[in-house]
Amino acid sequence: MTTRHETAILDPQLYRPDFPILNRTIEDGRPFVYFDNAATTQRPRQVIEAITTLYETHYGNVHRGIHRLADETTELYEGARERIARFLNASSETEVIFTSGATAGINLVARAWGDANVHEGDEILVTELEHHSNLVPWFQLAERTGAVIRYIPITDDGLLVMEELERLLSSRTKLVAVTAASNVLGTVPPLPVIIKAAHSVGALVLVDGAQGVPHRKTDVQALDADFLVFSGHKMLGPSGVGVLYGKREILESMPPFMGGGSMIREVRMDGFTPGDVPYRFEAGTPPIVPAIGMTAAIDYLEQVGLERIDQYERQLTKRLHEELEKLEFVRILGPTPEYKSGIVSFVVDRIHAHDVAQVLDSVGVAVRAGHHCAMPLHKRLGVTASVRASFYFYNMASEIDRLIEGLDRAVRLFRRRK
Ligand code: PMP
Repeated sequence: MTTRHETAILDPQLYRPDFPILNRTIEDGRPFVYFDNAATTQRPRQVIEAITTLYETHYGNVHRGIHRLADETTELYEGARERIARFLNASSETEVIFTSGATAGINLVARAWGDANVHEGDEILVTELEHHSNLVPWFQLAERTGAVIRYIPITDDGLLVMEELERLLSSRTKLVAVTAASNVLGTVPPLPVIIKAAHSVGALVLVDGAQGVPHRKTDVQALDADFLVFSGHKMLGPSGVGVLYGKREILESMPPFMGGGSMIREVRMDGFTPGDVPYRFEAGTPPIVPAIGMTAAIDYLEQVGLERIDQYERQLTKRLHEELEKLEFVRILGPTPEYKSGIVSFVVDRIHAHDVAQVLDSVGVAVRAGHHCAMPLHKRLGVTASVRASFYFYNMASEIDRLIEGLDRAVRLFRRRK
Protein backbone atom coordinates (compact mmCIF):
# COMPACT_ATOMS: atom_id res chain seq x y z
CA MET A 1 0.00 0.00 0.00
CA THR A 2 1.31 3.44 -0.87
CA THR A 3 1.35 5.78 2.13
CA ARG A 4 0.70 9.50 1.91
CA HIS A 5 4.44 10.09 2.18
CA GLU A 6 5.21 8.00 -0.89
CA THR A 7 3.00 9.43 -3.62
CA ALA A 8 5.12 10.74 -6.49
CA ILE A 9 3.61 14.20 -6.30
CA LEU A 10 2.85 15.66 -2.92
CA ASP A 11 -0.88 15.94 -2.29
CA PRO A 12 -1.55 18.72 0.26
CA GLN A 13 -5.02 17.32 0.98
CA LEU A 14 -3.38 14.37 2.69
CA TYR A 15 -1.59 16.64 5.17
CA ARG A 16 -4.08 19.43 5.79
CA PRO A 17 -6.18 17.48 8.32
CA ASP A 18 -3.11 17.48 10.61
CA PHE A 19 -3.24 21.29 10.83
CA PRO A 20 -6.20 22.38 13.00
CA ILE A 21 -5.77 26.07 12.15
CA LEU A 22 -6.32 25.38 8.46
CA ASN A 23 -9.95 24.62 9.35
CA ARG A 24 -10.59 28.30 10.02
CA THR A 25 -13.15 29.93 7.81
CA ILE A 26 -14.04 33.53 7.05
CA GLU A 27 -17.41 35.30 7.32
CA ASP A 28 -18.79 33.82 4.09
CA GLY A 29 -17.90 30.32 5.25
CA ARG A 30 -14.99 29.84 2.87
CA PRO A 31 -11.72 28.47 4.21
CA PHE A 32 -9.01 30.87 5.23
CA VAL A 33 -5.97 30.85 2.91
CA TYR A 34 -2.60 31.12 4.60
CA PHE A 35 0.10 32.47 2.26
CA ASP A 36 2.34 34.03 4.92
CA ASN A 37 4.61 31.07 5.52
CA ALA A 38 7.84 33.02 5.09
CA ALA A 39 6.82 35.01 8.18
CA THR A 40 5.90 31.91 10.16
CA THR A 41 4.37 28.54 9.38
CA GLN A 42 1.49 26.72 11.06
CA ARG A 43 1.84 23.66 13.28
CA PRO A 44 0.49 20.15 12.83
CA ARG A 45 -1.24 18.40 15.70
CA GLN A 46 1.82 16.17 16.11
CA VAL A 47 3.91 19.19 17.14
CA ILE A 48 1.19 20.72 19.32
CA GLU A 49 0.68 17.38 21.09
CA ALA A 50 4.41 16.87 21.59
CA ILE A 51 4.59 20.24 23.34
CA THR A 52 1.52 19.59 25.50
CA THR A 53 2.79 16.15 26.47
CA LEU A 54 6.10 17.61 27.55
CA TYR A 55 4.47 20.11 29.88
CA GLU A 56 2.13 17.44 31.19
CA THR A 57 4.69 14.72 31.79
CA HIS A 58 8.38 15.63 31.50
CA TYR A 59 9.24 19.12 32.58
CA GLY A 60 12.11 20.33 34.72
CA ASN A 61 15.13 22.53 34.19
CA VAL A 62 17.96 21.01 32.18
CA HIS A 63 21.55 20.18 33.21
CA ARG A 64 20.92 20.97 36.88
CA GLY A 65 18.63 18.64 38.69
CA ILE A 66 19.26 15.52 40.68
CA HIS A 67 15.67 14.47 40.27
CA ARG A 68 13.92 12.44 37.63
CA LEU A 69 12.01 15.26 35.96
CA ALA A 70 15.18 17.29 35.45
CA ASP A 71 17.06 14.19 34.25
CA GLU A 72 14.33 13.20 31.81
CA THR A 73 14.04 16.72 30.44
CA THR A 74 17.81 16.95 30.03
CA GLU A 75 17.80 13.68 28.14
CA LEU A 76 15.07 14.92 25.83
CA TYR A 77 16.79 18.29 25.32
CA GLU A 78 20.13 16.68 24.48
CA GLY A 79 18.27 14.17 22.33
CA ALA A 80 16.84 17.12 20.38
CA ARG A 81 20.38 18.36 19.78
CA GLU A 82 21.36 14.95 18.40
CA ARG A 83 18.21 14.80 16.26
CA ILE A 84 18.96 18.19 14.74
CA ALA A 85 22.59 17.22 14.12
CA ARG A 86 21.33 14.17 12.18
CA PHE A 87 18.80 16.31 10.29
CA LEU A 88 21.61 18.60 9.15
CA ASN A 89 24.15 15.79 8.73
CA ALA A 90 26.47 17.62 11.14
CA SER A 91 29.53 15.62 12.16
CA SER A 92 28.73 15.99 15.87
CA GLU A 93 25.88 17.18 18.07
CA THR A 94 28.32 19.61 19.67
CA GLU A 95 28.02 21.65 16.47
CA VAL A 96 24.36 22.43 17.26
CA ILE A 97 23.68 25.43 19.50
CA PHE A 98 20.14 26.29 20.53
CA THR A 99 19.31 29.98 20.20
CA SER A 100 16.06 31.91 20.21
CA GLY A 101 15.99 32.08 16.40
CA ALA A 102 17.92 32.89 13.23
CA THR A 103 18.43 36.49 14.30
CA ALA A 104 19.95 35.45 17.63
CA GLY A 105 22.27 33.00 15.84
CA ILE A 106 23.63 35.68 13.52
CA ASN A 107 24.13 38.09 16.42
CA LEU A 108 25.94 35.37 18.35
CA VAL A 109 28.39 34.86 15.48
CA ALA A 110 28.83 38.62 14.95
CA ARG A 111 29.67 39.07 18.63
CA ALA A 112 31.55 35.93 19.58
CA TRP A 113 33.40 35.24 16.33
CA GLY A 114 33.30 38.75 14.85
CA ASP A 115 34.68 40.67 17.82
CA ALA A 116 37.58 38.23 18.13
CA ASN A 117 38.46 37.94 14.45
CA VAL A 118 37.41 41.06 12.55
CA HIS A 119 39.60 44.17 12.62
CA GLU A 120 39.75 47.62 11.07
CA GLY A 121 39.89 47.46 7.28
CA ASP A 122 38.67 43.85 7.14
CA GLU A 123 35.68 43.22 4.91
CA ILE A 124 32.36 41.45 5.43
CA LEU A 125 30.69 40.50 2.18
CA VAL A 126 26.89 40.35 2.10
CA THR A 127 24.39 40.39 -0.77
CA GLU A 128 21.73 42.87 -1.81
CA LEU A 129 19.16 40.14 -1.09
CA GLU A 130 19.66 39.99 2.66
CA HIS A 131 17.08 40.30 5.43
CA HIS A 132 17.84 42.98 8.04
CA SER A 133 18.81 40.17 10.42
CA ASN A 134 21.73 39.35 8.14
CA LEU A 135 22.74 43.00 7.69
CA VAL A 136 22.32 44.91 10.94
CA PRO A 137 24.54 42.62 13.10
CA TRP A 138 27.31 43.12 10.51
CA PHE A 139 26.78 46.89 10.47
CA GLN A 140 27.09 46.81 14.26
CA LEU A 141 30.25 44.71 14.00
CA ALA A 142 31.64 47.19 11.47
CA GLU A 143 30.85 50.06 13.86
CA ARG A 144 32.69 48.31 16.68
CA THR A 145 35.73 47.27 14.67
CA GLY A 146 36.13 49.61 11.68
CA ALA A 147 35.45 46.78 9.25
CA VAL A 148 33.86 47.50 5.88
CA ILE A 149 30.62 46.00 4.51
CA ARG A 150 30.57 45.15 0.81
CA TYR A 151 27.69 43.87 -1.30
CA ILE A 152 27.42 41.26 -4.01
CA PRO A 153 25.01 43.15 -6.29
CA ILE A 154 21.90 41.74 -7.95
CA THR A 155 20.54 42.14 -11.44
CA ASP A 156 17.24 43.95 -11.98
CA ASP A 157 15.70 40.46 -11.92
CA GLY A 158 17.02 39.75 -8.44
CA LEU A 159 19.78 37.29 -9.34
CA LEU A 160 23.24 37.67 -7.83
CA VAL A 161 25.82 39.06 -10.24
CA MET A 162 28.24 36.19 -9.75
CA GLU A 163 31.06 37.78 -11.81
CA GLU A 164 31.26 40.41 -9.09
CA LEU A 165 31.96 37.79 -6.45
CA GLU A 166 35.50 37.12 -7.75
CA ARG A 167 36.20 40.86 -7.89
CA LEU A 168 34.93 41.49 -4.36
CA LEU A 169 36.69 38.61 -2.64
CA SER A 170 40.21 39.27 -1.39
CA SER A 171 42.50 38.50 1.52
CA ARG A 172 40.67 41.34 3.34
CA THR A 173 37.37 39.38 3.22
CA LYS A 174 36.85 37.74 6.60
CA LEU A 175 33.28 36.54 6.20
CA VAL A 176 30.64 36.10 3.52
CA ALA A 177 27.09 36.23 4.93
CA VAL A 178 24.49 35.03 2.46
CA THR A 179 20.91 33.87 2.52
CA ALA A 180 19.84 30.39 1.42
CA ALA A 181 16.77 32.00 -0.19
CA SER A 182 15.60 35.58 -0.35
CA ASN A 183 12.60 36.11 1.91
CA VAL A 184 11.28 38.65 -0.62
CA LEU A 185 12.12 37.37 -4.09
CA GLY A 186 12.51 33.69 -3.38
CA THR A 187 15.86 33.79 -5.20
CA VAL A 188 18.02 30.80 -4.31
CA PRO A 189 21.69 31.83 -4.54
CA PRO A 190 24.25 29.27 -5.77
CA LEU A 191 25.61 28.56 -2.29
CA PRO A 192 28.21 25.90 -3.25
CA VAL A 193 29.89 28.29 -5.70
CA ILE A 194 29.90 31.15 -3.18
CA ILE A 195 31.22 28.97 -0.36
CA LYS A 196 34.02 27.53 -2.48
CA ALA A 197 35.08 30.97 -3.71
CA ALA A 198 35.00 32.42 -0.18
CA HIS A 199 37.10 29.58 1.21
CA SER A 200 39.66 30.06 -1.57
CA VAL A 201 40.54 33.48 -0.08
CA GLY A 202 40.38 32.19 3.50
CA ALA A 203 37.01 33.77 4.35
CA LEU A 204 34.38 31.98 6.41
CA VAL A 205 30.77 31.70 5.28
CA LEU A 206 27.58 32.16 7.29
CA VAL A 207 24.43 30.91 5.60
CA ASP A 208 21.14 32.44 6.73
CA GLY A 209 19.02 29.33 6.37
CA ALA A 210 15.77 30.86 7.69
CA GLN A 211 14.08 30.41 4.29
CA GLY A 212 16.17 27.44 3.17
CA VAL A 213 16.26 24.76 5.88
CA PRO A 214 12.43 24.50 6.16
CA HIS A 215 12.04 23.89 2.43
CA ARG A 216 15.03 21.95 1.11
CA LYS A 217 17.33 19.21 2.31
CA THR A 218 20.34 20.81 3.99
CA ASP A 219 23.53 18.78 4.42
CA VAL A 220 26.03 20.96 6.24
CA GLN A 221 28.97 18.71 5.45
CA ALA A 222 28.23 18.69 1.72
CA LEU A 223 27.54 22.43 1.79
CA ASP A 224 30.73 23.13 3.75
CA ALA A 225 29.31 26.33 5.30
CA ASP A 226 31.09 27.41 8.46
CA PHE A 227 27.92 28.68 10.14
CA LEU A 228 24.25 28.12 9.39
CA VAL A 229 21.29 29.61 11.24
CA PHE A 230 17.56 28.95 11.14
CA SER A 231 14.35 29.32 13.17
CA GLY A 232 11.95 26.67 14.46
CA HIS A 233 8.79 28.67 13.82
CA LYS A 234 9.37 28.76 10.05
CA MET A 235 9.42 24.95 9.86
CA LEU A 236 6.31 23.80 11.75
CA GLY A 237 8.09 24.14 15.10
CA PRO A 238 7.51 26.36 18.11
CA SER A 239 8.54 30.01 18.16
CA GLY A 240 11.31 31.11 20.51
CA VAL A 241 13.83 28.55 19.32
CA GLY A 242 16.40 28.43 16.55
CA VAL A 243 19.68 26.77 15.77
CA LEU A 244 23.17 27.96 15.11
CA TYR A 245 25.25 25.27 13.44
CA GLY A 246 28.99 25.92 13.44
CA LYS A 247 31.99 23.80 12.50
CA ARG A 248 33.34 22.41 15.71
CA GLU A 249 36.90 23.72 15.46
CA ILE A 250 35.60 27.22 14.76
CA LEU A 251 33.13 27.13 17.66
CA GLU A 252 35.88 25.88 19.96
CA SER A 253 38.06 28.84 19.03
CA MET A 254 35.30 31.33 19.88
CA PRO A 255 34.88 33.02 23.26
CA PRO A 256 31.37 33.04 24.76
CA PHE A 257 29.05 35.90 23.91
CA MET A 258 26.48 35.91 26.73
CA GLY A 259 27.49 35.17 30.30
CA GLY A 260 25.43 33.43 32.96
CA GLY A 261 24.49 30.03 34.28
CA SER A 262 25.26 26.85 32.33
CA MET A 263 27.96 28.37 30.10
CA ILE A 264 30.78 28.06 32.64
CA ARG A 265 33.14 25.37 33.85
CA GLU A 266 34.00 27.31 37.00
CA VAL A 267 33.23 30.68 38.55
CA ARG A 268 35.61 32.19 41.10
CA MET A 269 35.43 35.41 43.12
CA ASP A 270 37.66 37.02 40.51
CA GLY A 271 36.51 35.53 37.25
CA PHE A 272 35.30 32.46 35.36
CA THR A 273 36.37 29.70 33.02
CA PRO A 274 33.97 29.07 30.12
CA GLY A 275 32.44 25.65 29.58
CA ASP A 276 32.81 23.46 26.53
CA VAL A 277 31.06 23.83 23.21
CA PRO A 278 28.07 23.92 22.76
CA TYR A 279 27.14 24.86 26.39
CA ARG A 280 29.53 27.82 26.28
CA PHE A 281 27.03 29.51 23.97
CA GLU A 282 23.85 28.63 25.86
CA ALA A 283 23.87 30.91 28.90
CA GLY A 284 20.83 30.71 31.14
CA THR A 285 17.83 28.41 30.88
CA PRO A 286 17.54 27.52 27.21
CA PRO A 287 14.28 27.28 25.21
CA ILE A 288 13.69 23.79 26.64
CA VAL A 289 10.25 22.86 25.36
CA PRO A 290 10.57 24.67 22.01
CA ALA A 291 13.88 22.88 21.34
CA ILE A 292 12.36 19.48 22.09
CA GLY A 293 9.22 20.46 20.15
CA MET A 294 11.38 21.13 17.11
CA THR A 295 12.18 17.43 16.85
CA ALA A 296 8.49 16.65 16.33
CA ALA A 297 8.49 19.22 13.52
CA ILE A 298 11.60 17.67 11.97
CA ASP A 299 10.12 14.17 12.20
CA TYR A 300 7.05 15.45 10.39
CA LEU A 301 9.01 17.29 7.68
CA GLU A 302 11.23 14.30 7.02
CA GLN A 303 8.20 12.07 6.62
CA VAL A 304 6.69 14.43 4.10
CA GLY A 305 10.13 14.62 2.45
CA LEU A 306 12.07 17.82 1.92
CA GLU A 307 12.75 17.07 -1.74
CA ARG A 308 9.02 16.68 -2.34
CA ILE A 309 8.28 19.87 -0.42
CA ASP A 310 10.75 21.85 -2.50
CA GLN A 311 9.45 20.43 -5.75
CA TYR A 312 5.82 21.01 -4.82
CA GLU A 313 6.33 24.60 -3.67
CA ARG A 314 8.10 25.40 -6.91
CA GLN A 315 5.04 24.16 -8.79
CA LEU A 316 2.88 26.57 -6.80
CA THR A 317 5.32 29.39 -7.57
CA LYS A 318 5.14 28.59 -11.28
CA ARG A 319 1.36 28.54 -11.16
CA LEU A 320 1.15 31.89 -9.34
CA HIS A 321 3.60 33.42 -11.82
CA GLU A 322 1.44 32.23 -14.72
CA GLU A 323 -1.67 33.72 -13.16
CA LEU A 324 -0.04 37.03 -12.20
CA GLU A 325 1.50 37.42 -15.65
CA LYS A 326 -2.03 37.59 -17.08
CA LEU A 327 -2.72 40.74 -15.02
CA GLU A 328 -1.36 43.84 -16.72
CA PHE A 329 -1.55 45.82 -13.45
CA VAL A 330 0.87 43.50 -11.61
CA ARG A 331 4.67 43.63 -11.64
CA ILE A 332 6.31 40.48 -10.27
CA LEU A 333 9.60 41.13 -8.49
CA GLY A 334 12.57 38.83 -8.84
CA PRO A 335 13.59 36.15 -11.29
CA THR A 336 11.63 33.58 -13.28
CA PRO A 337 10.26 30.63 -11.26
CA GLU A 338 13.17 28.28 -12.03
CA TYR A 339 15.43 30.43 -9.82
CA LYS A 340 12.86 30.76 -7.04
CA SER A 341 11.67 28.85 -4.02
CA GLY A 342 8.06 29.12 -2.83
CA ILE A 343 8.04 32.90 -2.43
CA VAL A 344 6.53 35.40 -4.87
CA SER A 345 6.47 39.16 -4.28
CA PHE A 346 4.80 41.68 -6.52
CA VAL A 347 3.51 45.22 -6.73
CA VAL A 348 0.12 46.36 -8.02
CA ASP A 349 0.06 49.41 -10.21
CA ARG A 350 -1.06 52.51 -8.25
CA ILE A 351 -2.30 50.57 -5.20
CA HIS A 352 -0.18 50.45 -2.06
CA ALA A 353 0.86 46.98 -0.90
CA HIS A 354 -0.88 47.47 2.46
CA ASP A 355 -4.17 48.26 0.71
CA VAL A 356 -3.80 45.18 -1.49
CA ALA A 357 -3.13 43.01 1.57
CA GLN A 358 -6.15 44.42 3.37
CA VAL A 359 -8.45 43.60 0.47
CA LEU A 360 -6.90 40.14 0.24
CA ASP A 361 -7.57 39.64 3.95
CA SER A 362 -11.19 40.64 3.36
CA VAL A 363 -11.53 37.67 0.99
CA GLY A 364 -9.68 35.46 3.47
CA VAL A 365 -6.20 35.41 1.96
CA ALA A 366 -3.28 36.13 4.30
CA VAL A 367 -0.21 37.65 2.64
CA ARG A 368 2.46 39.98 3.90
CA ALA A 369 2.82 43.56 2.73
CA GLY A 370 5.61 46.05 3.32
CA HIS A 371 9.37 45.83 3.01
CA HIS A 372 9.58 42.41 4.68
CA CYS A 373 12.65 43.47 6.71
CA ALA A 374 14.57 44.01 3.48
CA MET A 375 14.59 47.76 2.93
CA PRO A 376 17.88 47.90 0.98
CA LEU A 377 16.55 45.26 -1.43
CA HIS A 378 13.32 47.16 -2.02
CA LYS A 379 15.30 50.35 -2.61
CA ARG A 380 17.48 48.51 -5.13
CA LEU A 381 14.33 47.35 -6.95
CA GLY A 382 12.91 50.89 -6.96
CA VAL A 383 9.86 50.14 -4.82
CA THR A 384 9.02 51.03 -1.23
CA ALA A 385 6.82 48.04 -0.49
CA SER A 386 5.55 44.84 -2.03
CA VAL A 387 2.94 42.13 -1.50
CA ARG A 388 4.37 38.70 -0.70
CA ALA A 389 2.74 35.30 -1.06
CA SER A 390 4.81 32.52 0.46
CA PHE A 391 3.91 28.86 0.33
CA TYR A 392 4.32 25.71 2.36
CA PHE A 393 3.42 22.17 1.39
CA TYR A 394 -0.10 22.41 2.86
CA ASN A 395 -1.07 25.13 0.38
CA MET A 396 -3.19 24.15 -2.61
CA ALA A 397 -3.15 25.36 -6.20
CA SER A 398 -6.85 26.20 -5.85
CA GLU A 399 -5.98 28.72 -3.15
CA ILE A 400 -4.08 30.74 -5.74
CA ASP A 401 -7.41 31.42 -7.47
CA ARG A 402 -8.61 33.09 -4.27
CA LEU A 403 -5.60 35.39 -4.34
CA ILE A 404 -6.27 36.33 -7.96
CA GLU A 405 -9.93 36.97 -7.12
CA GLY A 406 -8.77 39.27 -4.30
CA LEU A 407 -6.49 41.20 -6.64
CA ASP A 408 -9.34 41.76 -9.06
CA ARG A 409 -11.42 43.06 -6.20
CA ALA A 410 -8.63 45.38 -5.02
CA VAL A 411 -8.27 46.84 -8.47
CA ARG A 412 -12.02 47.35 -8.84
CA LEU A 413 -12.26 49.00 -5.42
CA PHE A 414 -9.28 51.30 -5.67
CA ARG A 415 -9.50 52.22 -9.32
CA ARG A 416 -13.10 53.26 -8.84
CA ARG A 417 -12.12 55.61 -6.04
CA LYS A 418 -9.38 57.32 -8.04
N1 PMP B 1 16.53 35.72 7.65
C1 PMP B 1 15.53 35.57 6.79
C2 PMP B 1 15.85 35.34 5.35
C3 PMP B 1 14.21 35.63 7.24
O1 PMP B 1 13.21 35.49 6.38
C4 PMP B 1 13.96 35.84 8.62
C5 PMP B 1 12.54 35.91 9.15
N2 PMP B 1 11.69 36.73 8.43
C6 PMP B 1 15.04 35.96 9.47
C7 PMP B 1 16.31 35.90 8.97
C8 PMP B 1 14.85 36.19 10.94
O2 PMP B 1 14.26 35.10 11.55
P1 PMP B 1 13.75 35.22 13.06
O3 PMP B 1 12.85 36.41 13.10
O4 PMP B 1 13.03 33.94 13.29
O5 PMP B 1 14.96 35.38 13.92
